[in-house]
Amino acid sequence: MTSCVLERKRLMKTVSILGSTGSIGTQSLDVCEKAGYRLHTLCAHRNITLLEEQTRKFRPQQVIVTDVEAGKSLALRLRDLDIPVKTGFQALLDAVQEDGQDVIINALMGVRGLLPTLYALQAGNSVALANKETLVAGGKLVTGLAKEKNIPLVPIDSEHSAIFQCLQGNHKEQVKRLIITASGGPFFGKTREELSAVTREQALRHPNWSMGAKITIDSSTLANKALEFIEAMWLFDMPPEQIDVLVHRQSIVHSLVEYVDGSVIAQLGAADMRVPIQYALTWPERMESPARKLDLLSCPPLTFQKPDLETFTCLRDGMEAAKKGGLYPCIFNAANEQAVELFLQDKIRYLDIFRAVHESLSHFSGGEYTTVEELLEQDRQTRAYVRSLFDL
Ligand code: NDP
Ligand code: MG
Repeated sequence: MTSCVLERKRLMKTVSILGSTGSIGTQSLDVCEKAGYRLHTLCAHRNITLLEEQTRKFRPQQVIVTDVEAGKSLALRLRDLDIPVKTGFQALLDAVQEDGQDVIINALMGVRGLLPTLYALQAGNSVALANKETLVAGGKLVTGLAKEKNIPLVPIDSEHSAIFQCLQGNHKEQVKRLIITASGGPFFGKTREELSAVTREQALRHPNWSMGAKITIDSSTLANKALEFIEAMWLFDMPPEQIDVLVHRQSIVHSLVEYVDGSVIAQLGAADMRVPIQYALTWPERMESPARKLDLLSCPPLTFQKPDLETFTCLRDGMEAAKKGGLYPCIFNAANEQAVELFLQDKIRYLDIFRAVHESLSHFSGGEYTTVEELLEQDRQTRAYVRSLFDL
C-alpha cells in the first residue's frame, strides 16, 4: 500500500449521527462527506423529508426515527433501499450500543440526549458531544462512566473544543483558569426593561452563529453560557472558581486557558461549527476542512468585557446552580428547556424564561443524586413546576 492509502485508512472512521437533521447534524454530515467517512446510524425525530434525502445520499447502515408514526412513513418512502428503518426511542438506545461505530456524534437537543450518551458509553462506544444538556444535567454520571470505561469525551461545542485544543500537550494541574468567551447575543447592552418587549423573532436572530432554535434563544438569554460553564466543569474536571466567562463580541477567540506561569493560550477561528465537529472526529489528528478560514488582516479589533449578570440573570443563576452542585444544574437545565419551549410556542414572554429559571432554583431543594432515574424525575418535576407557574 502507498503511504497515502495507509494514511487514509488510518484516518477512516465509521460515524453515527444522532440528530442528523439538526444544525449540528447537517454540518456533521458535511464534515463526514468531505472526510470520506462511512456512516453507521442516522437518527432524527420527525423531519423525515430531510432524513430521506440524507439516507439516499449517504447510505448509512441503518436509520432511526424516534417518532414512531414518522418512522413508519419513512420506512414506506425508503422501501426501494436495503437500509433498515427503525422507530422509537428504544431503537435509538439499542443502536448506540452496537459495535462498528468509531464515534457517535450526539447532536440531539435537550436532556433527551442523556440516555443515549450513557448507553453508548456503557457499551464502550466513543461519544463526541454537542448535546450539552447531557453534561449539565447528568455530568457526574456521564463523566464517571466515561472514566470507568476509559473513553475520552470529546467536545463539539466550540468553546469546549477551543479549551480542549488549548489543553493539548499541557498538564491540567498547571491550569490556572479556563476563560469561556460569549458573543453576548443579540441583546448585549440592553436593559432589563428593554428585554421585556423582546419577541420570538428578535430572539431567534443571532448576530454571529446560525443554530437550532433552542440554543439560539439560550444564546440570547445567556443561559447558553451558564450551560457551557457547567459543561466545562465536567469535561475538564475544574471547580467553578477556576472558570470565567468573558463577553467577546467578535466570536473569533473561541475560548482560552490561562496557565500558572501567566501564559494564556487561545484558539481562534472563523465562526464555523464544522471546525470543532471535525476536530472531535479527527483528534488527535487534524485534516483539511471545508470551513471558512480566519483572515487575521480583516479581523475587527478583539475586545473582552465582563458579562452583565444583573440583566442576564440566567447566567448568574446557572453559575450559582453550578456552585451548589447536586441536582441544581439539572433543575436549571429543565426549567430553562421547558421555559424556552413555551416561549417558542408563544405561550410565555421573554422575561418569563428568566423568571422560570430563577423561581425553579428557589422552589426545589436540590440535594445529591446517584441514579439517572432520580435525575429524570427531577427533570420531570421541574418542567411541571414551570408549567404551573404560567397555569399551563
Ligand atoms: P436542532 O434543533 O437544530 O436539532 C436537533 C436534532 O435533534 C434534530 O435532528 C431533531 O430531529 C432531533 N430531535 C428533536 N427532538 C427529538 C426527540 N424528541 N428525540 C430524538 N431526536 C430529537 O439543534 P442543534 O443542532 O442546534 O443543537 C443540538 C445540540 O447541540 C444542542 O444540545 C445544542 O445546545 C448543541 N450545540 C449546538 C450548536 C449549534 O451551532 N447549533 C453549537 C454548540 C452546541 P428532527 O429534525 O427530526 O426534529
Ligand atoms: Mg458554544
